[in-house]
Amino acid sequence: IQWFPGHMHLTKKAITERLKETDVVIELLDARMPGSSANPMLAELIGSTPTLKILNKQDIADPARTALWLDYYNALPGTRAIALDASETAPAQRLIPACRLLAPLRGGMVKPMRVLICGVPNVGKSTLVNTLKGKRAAKTGDEAGITKLEQRIVLADDFYAYDTPGMLWPRIIVEQSGYHLAACGSIGRNAFDEEEVALELLLILQKHYAGQVEERYKLDPILGLTDIGVLTEIARKRGGLLGKGKVNLQKAAEIVLTEFRSATLGRVTLETPEEFASWLAAGQAAD
Ligand code: GDP
Repeated sequence: IQWFPGHMHLTKKAITERLKETDVVIELLDARMPGSSANPMLAELIGSTPTLKILNKQDIADPARTALWLDYYNALPGTRAIALDASETAPAQRLIPACRLLAPLRGGMVKPMRVLICGVPNVGKSTLVNTLKGKRAAKTGDEAGITKLEQRIVLADDFYAYDTPGMLWPRIIVEQSGYHLAACGSIGRNAFDEEEVALELLLILQKHYAGQVEERYKLDPILGLTDIGVLTEIARKRGGLLGKGKVNLQKAAEIVLTEFRSATLGRVTLETPEEFASWLAAGQAAD
């Protein structure tokens, strides 16, 4: 898994500076893996600043599990959570009221609301920022001291959103998160083995979304098979044969990953709050 300490250091400094003038942090998460797409360093930097968690890509996540994550975050102090699809027509209409509840003393021309939008790559930050900009795009980035890296979007006369300065990389503190980030396409292709990641993904699918996999690949019930067994069956149906009875598992792995990412396999969420907490606890115990 690749790691860029230099960038991280600069980002950390820039975020720390920006947070001094931030009333609400908007943390974008991938609804298919909210725990794994959070950046733990960000949590440390945010401290007690009120936070709106946005479970983005809710359109391709499992709605029952999204509800669990919303309940989990909404129970945290100083935190609210909403689920959305960054390209939906009016995210600002959902986002603005949630922020106003988090910082009721801000608002009006004297004390405008200032929110900071953060998220690791691939959570949909650019999509959200572009949707928010909409026809107000001309108003961004024309304030002194605001560089290309840190653009300001005026969402209402007294409501400014800032894009995170710099790049926030996922920091993987739970082994399982690495697989989830890779499966969702949030880590560069060269940083992991596709077959290994597809097998991890299949374990989850087999346990919780077997019907969707069986339907997509026209398979007999897969519950009793091993993960390699399932991948082999998919390869037989879709990946072609390599000759001498061998199946092309690499090709099947690529198909599974691509179809999971595009939600051709249906709506899937890889982790629940409870699972994530137990991985964290196990990780801490091992330290
Ligand atoms: P960024 O790296 O966080 O800026 O992410 P992007 O905005 O570039 O989005 C990454 C990918 O996710 C792109 O292919 C987007 O089209 C897709 N995407 C972003 N938001 C959503 C969403 O709410 N739903 C779905 N289905 N796809 C999304």
